[in-house]
Amino acid sequence: MTPSILPPQFIPFNRPHLTGPELEYIRQAVAAGKLSGNGEFTHRCQQFFEQRYGVAKALLTTSGTDALEMAALLLNIQPGDEVIVPSYTFTSTANAFVLRGAHIIFADSGSDHPNLDWQQVAPLLTARTKAIVLVHYGGQPLIGLRELLALARLHNLWVVEDAAQAIEARYEGQQLGTFGHLAAFSFHETKNISAGEGGMLIINDPSFMARAEILWEKGTNRAAFSRGEAARYEWVDIGSSFLASELNAAYLWAQLQAIDTIQARRRHLWEYYAETLAPLAASGAFRLLPEITATQPNWHIFALLCKHEAERDALLAHLRERHILAVFHYLPLHKSPFYQSQHDGRTLSHAERYASTLIRLPLFHDLMPEEQNCIVKAIYDFYKVPFRG
Ligand SMILES: *Cc1c(COP(=O)(O)O)cnc(C)c1O
Repeated sequence: MTPSILPPQFIPFNRPHLTGPELEYIRQAVAAGKLSGNGEFTHRCQQFFEQRYGVAKALLTTSGTDALEMAALLLNIQPGDEVIVPSYTFTSTANAFVLRGAHIIFADSGSDHPNLDWQQVAPLLTARTKAIVLVHYGGQPLIGLRELLALARLHNLWVVEDAAQAIEARYEGQQLGTFGHLAAFSFHETKNISAGEGGMLIINDPSFMARAEILWEKGTNRAAFSRGEAARYEWVDIGSSFLASELNAAYLWAQLQAIDTIQARRRHLWEYYAETLAPLAASGAFRLLPEITATQPNWHIFALLCKHEAERDALLAHLRERHILAVFHYLPLHKSPFYQSQHDGRTLSHAERYASTLIRLPLFHDLMPEEQNCIVKAIYDFYKVPFRG
């Protein structure tokens, strides 16, 4: 992203939203005189997840990436272990496990949806497979979530949900991030709820609770000690500094309190795109991501799937000429400079297709109706269809 070279008044892909009390809460954190992690605002944010989603334990981290790294440590991933990861995802999904020496077995996306195709997972399992990482792309579960969870159970595999994009999304009434043994949310600036950088490790399997607190606090028993449960504060395991500062937690707490308003606003914006672009999609100009049965979406991404790469690139360039910053998404990880030599050579054609045809439209709280109208009109103009909006 190089917004500085764009003309003025361009419509960015994302703009951070202030709900109101963020700065006041940061002031309160400063006034309280405790800025390191695991303080009052951290507790509020963690309790928000524990209560709203009924999870065993939530730990605030400095990023979604950190939460995934904690998951890899908790699962005791060792060199040579195999972990199944979709290729069409952000690097952290795989990198967290590579840091522990895992060999990543990349799975392809489905024909209708960027999420991994669960039916292709069984042939990838070997005696060394330890875990499957599910990514809920755009806040949608994969088609066949129950089937994949059953397959994992049958083979005694750990399931980690990369729920970085999935806050508030549900499948069959159950919150995404509560299906796997462990899950990670992200509060990166571009996510629905933001702390600039931030994340949450969700522990659904209570057997991980005690060790997770230790890994979180640099391998010490500080959390238990501060509750009076340990006689001495000492080094008891490996770990790192995964916990976020109270400054981040204070900002995040303001966002979490406004979660219903934030979601309602995204829904409104998302539905405007869906309604106004439906005729173009019906005419075959592009496809939209399918709705997945029994899913409550969270309106994280509004994506178009273009016919081919040249058309996608032309549409992006056209939007940019109109001062609109729409963006493509992942380059598939099995073809990345870092990992392609370690990939087993299978062609993952669907992942490659999403990489070359998908466009994400600007979708953020403070996107103005005129701006959104302008985006839709620019898309109609590209396809040379009059827009009656
Ligand atoms: C944003 C994101 C991450 C990383 O989260 P950070 O908080 O930026 O570390 C990981 N996986 C997916 C699918 C994401 O969208």
